[in-house]
Amino acid sequence: MPDFMDHIQQHAEDVAADALAAHARRSQQVGRTTCANLDCGEAIAKERTALGAQLCLDCQSAEESRAAHFKAWGRR
Ligand SMILES: [Zn+2]
Repeated sequence: MPDFMDHIQQHAEDVAADALAAHARRSQQVGRTTCANLDCGEAIAKERTALGAQLCLDCQSAEESRAAHFKAWGRR
């Protein structure tokens, strides 16, 4: 039943396209133009905003090293 299989495949492609579009919309919504850290407030590059960035590079790397440190201690 080739017609049936074509229909299924087309449907799968539509669903994937919808998911990608929804993800793109979400990313645009969550991206910030200034750092979410209120003590910082540094401007975020628009390339990072487009990727959904919440923190400036300094705060992001500080947050990541803090998280890595916390994970290391949590292992004890
Ligand atoms: Zn910051």
